[in-house]
Amino acid sequence: MEIKSTEPKEPREKGIHFIHQIIEDDNKTGKFEQRVHTRFPPEPNGYLHIGHAKSICLNFGTAAKYGGLTNLRFDDTNPTTEDTEYVDSIRDDIRWLGFSWDDREYYASDYFEQLYAWAVELIRKGKAYVCDMSAEEMSANRGNPSVPGKESPSRNRSVKESLDLFEGMRKGEFKEGEKTLRAKIDMASPNMHMRDPVMYRIMHAHHHRTGDKWCIYPMYDYAHGQCDSIEKITHSICTLEFEVHRPLYDWFVKELGIYAPQQIEFARLNLSYTVMSKRKLLQLVKENYVNGWDDPRMPTICGLRRRGYTPESLRNFAEIIGVAKRDNVIDVALLEHCVREDLNKRAFRVMAVLNPVKLVIDNYPEDTVEMLDAINNPEDPEMGTRQIPFSKEIYIEKDDFMENPSKKYYRLSPGAEVRLRYAYFVKCTHVVKDSDGEITEIHCTLDPASRGGNSPDGRKVQGTIHWVSATKGEQAEVRLYDRLFVKENPDDAEEGKDFKDYLNADSLKLITAVVEPYLKDADTNMKYQFERIGYFCFDKDSSTEKLVFNRTVTLKDSWTKQATK
Ligand code: ATP
Ligand code: MG
Repeated sequence: MEIKSTEPKEPREKGIHFIHQIIEDDNKTGKFEQRVHTRFPPEPNGYLHIGHAKSICLNFGTAAKYGGLTNLRFDDTNPTTEDTEYVDSIRDDIRWLGFSWDDREYYASDYFEQLYAWAVELIRKGKAYVCDMSAEEMSANRGNPSVPGKESPSRNRSVKESLDLFEGMRKGEFKEGEKTLRAKIDMASPNMHMRDPVMYRIMHAHHHRTGDKWCIYPMYDYAHGQCDSIEKITHSICTLEFEVHRPLYDWFVKELGIYAPQQIEFARLNLSYTVMSKRKLLQLVKENYVNGWDDPRMPTICGLRRRGYTPESLRNFAEIIGVAKRDNVIDVALLEHCVREDLNKRAFRVMAVLNPVKLVIDNYPEDTVEMLDAINNPEDPEMGTRQIPFSKEIYIEKDDFMENPSKKYYRLSPGAEVRLRYAYFVKCTHVVKDSDGEITEIHCTLDPASRGGNSPDGRKVQGTIHWVSATKGEQAEVRLYDRLFVKENPDDAEEGKDFKDYLNADSLKLITAVVEPYLKDADTNMKYQFERIGYFCFDKDSSTEKLVFNRTVTLKDSWTKQATK
């Protein structure tokens, strides 16, 4: 698959994408009487990821655009992998993204009785039969796209016999795998999905909603289209792999003579340096490669939320990438770009020093703490100002000092003068080192006339650096996250390896930083920019005893650079 170089664009108004075009055409012809009714149909067998977010934005966004409705439907046809924990998390994630399904929350399991009745109807019409083959026999007799399959010996049993056996299946008279109900279509069809697909299998399993009422469960392919039909969905939007299933869905609806929705397929979202399959994400969680579903390195919606991503940035990302008809991979740098753009508007600026070294101002009084004004967000004057304490000893970043500076180094070095953000001009006089030659203190003098960081006489300084008072600052744990994988496409593993062999060993670094005291009682829901470093948010582990921050994203935007190359 090719990496798609989608230029970051403003959401398009003209030039609508093909799904909206189909809807507009249907509205013109009156195919659905101008109704637009979509659904988001997750299987409650895992947490939602950013691919689902794309689908959620598309389904809810499309309905909103055309004055329609969207249902939330849990496709809960497989009791062994499903759980109410997942149902709850899915609800939370959709709400957090900013969408509402009002009271239209449905479950495939709500329709089990109807689906059963329809199955009986198909048997009566001679369109379905109970089959005695095991799963192995069935796959051995399926053939392949160029070789027709062999018909099951059960295929021609009488309607009466199939009806009795199907009832017996429901009553629990058979063991798992002993019998199935199959559609009677065409064992020679070039479409493998039409070769007498299984409609029902026996599972003596407890279902999270229907309990032990059923021991036969409909296959997804038998249930999905009929669920859409029952809910009078107009446009059933799904990912490309279901294109080959469409003839089967249409067949069921036609044979049953029920309302027919229109299925439309689009390419699923793939992101570079990310895996997206729920099975793989579950493996990362179960085998402790990450710390749970909401680990901030996970592409899950709850992981991205904990990482500090905003719903607005995800919605904007979904809009910018648009919908494609062919599989492609979106550069994760574009997602990060969308996050930065949004955080730039809303983040509260603060100062934090991640790799501190002490700076002592020799001409400043020992016990004085002075409060200086700082701007909370230069992008948004309404966010106001705050005061930050300044003192004789402060911390600056180790990186902001060089004893032997290179030519283009504009920050602090012996004899050089810089601006301390919102504070003063300071000039370095000398440094103190320990026995290993490590700098332990940088000594400076300040110019009292430069208070507030303003030049007293028009003289210029080359650099402005951030700082935190050594006596008034707070310690904080900062979690620096990086991409979870080192390979662009971790799914494409070399022979003998799998995606886990490409995990990034440096995807999490823990450091102790010093942050300005404002953060001790600050709003934990707010997004922050640590000036000159990146965007950060409070982690759920943070408390007044121990501040904990997650790095959401660095300031450096590799996307813009790439897009303008
Ligand atoms: P996975 O492949 O990750 O296990 P899934 O398709 O089995 O996902 P579902 O719960 O069935 O997960 O998905 C619910 C809806 O989300 C479906 O309509 C599906 O097409 C859509 N969806 C899932 N993954 C993506 C993706 N990567 N991009 C866009 N839509 C997706
Ligand atoms: Mg699925």
